[in-house]
Amino acid sequence: MKRFFSAALALAMAALSLAGCSGTSSRDAAGSPVQTSGVTQVAPMSTTAEALKYVFLFIGDGMSYPQFQAASDYLGSMADPDYLLAEPSLDDNQGAILDGPVALNFMGFDVAGSAVTYDSNSFAPDSASTATSIATGHKTYSGSINVDETATISYETISEKVHEQLGMKVGVISSVNLNHATPAAFYAHQASRNSYYEIGLELIDSGFDYFAGGALLKPDGADGDKDNLYDLAKEAGYTVVKTQAEAEQVTSGPVIIVDEHLADSDAMAYELDRTDDMWSLADYVKKGIQVLDNDKGFFMMCEGGKIDWACHANDAAASIHDTLALADAVQVAIDFAKDHAEETLILVTGDHETVLNISMVRFSLILRAFSHFLLSVVLFLNHRNR
Ligand SMILES: [Zn+2]
Repeated sequence: MKRFFSAALALAMAALSLAGCSGTSSRDAAGSPVQTSGVTQVAPMSTTAEALKYVFLFIGDGMSYPQFQAASDYLGSMADPDYLLAEPSLDDNQGAILDGPVALNFMGFDVAGSAVTYDSNSFAPDSASTATSIATGHKTYSGSINVDETATISYETISEKVHEQLGMKVGVISSVNLNHATPAAFYAHQASRNSYYEIGLELIDSGFDYFAGGALLKPDGADGDKDNLYDLAKEAGYTVVKTQAEAEQVTSGPVIIVDEHLADSDAMAYELDRTDDMWSLADYVKKGIQVLDNDKGFFMMCEGGKIDWACHANDAAASIHDTLALADAVQVAIDFAKDHAEETLILVTGDHETVLNISMVRFSLILRAFSHFLLSVVLFLNHRNR
């Protein structure tokens, strides 16, 4: 167990030693860009692993180059007065010259790397197996969470290691359900990601200090006949809050904060559908820092889970805005790191890519059109079906 922990740190060190390279695509030995399906950006605030006290891991679910480049291009289209002159026609650009995309904050980190994502039974892995790899360094079958291919060996996660060995506090945030595959991979060990109730029991057993985001799926078990997970969490010492007013008052853990404005599948609303009075992913990171900050440091995983959901729904506008919401959440960590420069590590990564296809309309790609999408497809359909 101890050996893996140092291996993980060695990996972080290897990433840190790459400081100086910049850009969003890695290069092979010949210096050619390597385009692959998984992307990791690392902000090295420290040069020695021993000094690391605060670790932020941001996972954009289903996020790779297409997702964050589309968000970056969209910002570029909105910021540039020349954009509407240049884009409508191939023949008449009216003298316009584009400034190009506006980089998201994590695209400017000092260290960037790419990885090919596949798992033990698929070249198109899912969030369970990929999050298992991120949390434990092991590959497994699609759908499995922190167990091997025989489902007989459980892998200890990096969050469990830092919690137990270093006494760091641990926070898990997700814009989707807190017992969904990606957040589950930081505290649960199950052959199937669909064992939501059992995953919820492990959440309670984890002893982690801060959970925030979407509601638990199947809180009363698959057949609705089990002890309620929230009741069990309270019995185990967790504060469970389900309103923003209550969440405002929270200053310490262990706590489970369920978003007050749950949307499809009891996840948080798409960023596109969020109004100013609703907490954003960034708000949950801010609250997390408040709850987790202590002398021994903390590990915080924050998932932008609906980037993936938006892409599965072919909703490019929702994908772009949820990617921007993830960048806003990353900004909270960047701002925190300004006061803790020598002891903070911020990692931003995807887990796998989810298809994002934005087509040109009559030879023109009108990115600004996305500013006229005022609802996610999901909310639009909800309204229409009423
Ligand atoms: Zn995923």
